[in-house]
Amino acid sequence: MSLNLKTDIRAAADIIRSGGLVAMPTETVYGLAADATDDSAVARIFEAKGRPQFNPLIIHVSGPDMAKRYVNISPLAEKLAAHFWPGPLTLVLPRRPDSDLSLLVSAGLDTVAVRMPNHAIAQALIAAVDRPLAAPSANRSGTISPTRPEHVRQSLGACIDMIIDGGPCLIGVESTIVKVDGEMSVLLRPGGIARDEIEGVLGAPLSSRDNSGHPEAPGMLKSHYAPCASLRLNAASPDADEAFLGFGATAHIHPYTLNLSESGDLREAAANLFAHLRRLDEICREENLAGIAAAPIPGLGLGEAINDRLERASTRELK
Ligand code: AMP
Ligand code: MG
Repeated sequence: MSLNLKTDIRAAADIIRSGGLVAMPTETVYGLAADATDDSAVARIFEAKGRPQFNPLIIHVSGPDMAKRYVNISPLAEKLAAHFWPGPLTLVLPRRPDSDLSLLVSAGLDTVAVRMPNHAIAQALIAAVDRPLAAPSANRSGTISPTRPEHVRQSLGACIDMIIDGGPCLIGVESTIVKVDGEMSVLLRPGGIARDEIEGVLGAPLSSRDNSGHPEAPGMLKSHYAPCASLRLNAASPDADEAFLGFGATAHIHPYTLNLSESGDLREAAANLFAHLRRLDEICREENLAGIAAAPIPGLGLGEAINDRLERASTRELK
């Protein structure tokens, strides 16, 4: 690795450690990397991509040992990781309850998508930061994934802090995603590693999402992120028997209020969203309240994704 590249990686690691965004090459496509344990940095990813929804993101790790700090790895998952890592296989695994990963990274789910990239620059960056990196493709939402640094510059140049130039990506398609739950493994997304290769290692067929009976793709179930308590949207103020999810300046007269952002900052609101919903849900149970009322959130920028998630959380029939 050249001296320049080493200097770039050190600079990129400093940016990421202080909450910034760096486009990094991987063997699949360029990823938009942030510290996966920093809610606010993860919120910036969604902001930069202009995603209208909080899809859960893949975390990139230095190997099984780092992964084990954040997820539970069953023997079957261990076998797949031993065979395909580093490489374009993402494993969706149960999140450890003691994990300090951002809740936004897994969009409130109890599972986390993890992979070890097969790219010297990505590996060096993860090692330098010494934390897992959340990294979706480094492009605006709805546009084609970038396989060269100039694609990233065209799509996101102004919104990110640094692009590490690693030339063109070798594989150019996204990773294969497999959810492993104990002895069950389900193909969630086809990608850089073929189904038969994985089945060869498993010694059994992979189930597909469609016939497994579990609609696992995030966002497919309208109520995927519903809390237990009912959620009333666009509430100017809470009723006496409701907890309140506030936004912007609110009078602090209500005892069970958590504010997404008192200054009305949408990035701060996104960073707090899942943690606040979970906490208010607990408060409803502890205090025997009727439900949660949520203040209106402006639909601009990250507000679109926040409103999308609140709407899903308020739809309870499918839970
Ligand atoms: P990308 O934009 O290429 O990083 O896409 C990440 C993909 O991983 C998306 O299709 C997500 O839906 C999927 N994904 C991430 N985390 C999870 C999870 N916990 N459960 C299921 N799918 C996930
Ligand atoms: Mg993408």
